Amino acid sequence: MKSREQSIFRNYLERRGLKLTAERQGVFDELFARHEHVEADEILVRLRAKGKKISRATIYRTLELLVDSGIVGRVRIGEIGYRYERLRAGEHHDHLICNECGRVIEFFEPRIESLQDEVCERYGFLPISHSHQMRGICRQCRPRALKAEANAQATARALREPRLVS
Ligand SMILES: [Zn+2]
Ligand SMILES: [Zn+2]
Repeated sequence: MKSREQSIFRNYLERRGLKLTAERQGVFDELFARHEHVEADEILVRLRAKGKKISRATIYRTLELLVDSGIVGRVRIGEIGYRYERLRAGEHHDHLICNECGRVIEFFEPRIESLQDEVCERYGFLPISHSHQMRGICRQCRPRALKAEANAQATARALREPRLVS
């Protein structure tokens, strides 16, 4: 299945008169080794750990090419920046992103998909792609986040209450 994306990428580069260099292949292999949502700098660290000489600029340029060729997705993670994931043709999912720990949860909801199609139809709009993401607090982080919120409220209350002067 990896070879299919490999040939899509190779053809994409050829159409632009670009070569599948060792550096570009290295970034491709790193992203297609497993399904994950990974930052560009993490790819840099991993390739360097393997003894590959590659610049940050080359990583970013290669990621742009991979995203543009349609086989890699880019997920915006708030202020932090982007994470990248391999995509399989015909497969689609959306994301829930935890503000506390950065966890990325994938989901697929047919009702959301068909509602989006209805919206496009209403506007005579031909959909090509979409990304839907919700930010919030994941199940693991919720107890901690609720406790922090309760503490903040208790502190605010204590500050408002008149102090007893003895
Ligand atoms: Zn979390
Ligand atoms: Zn994903």
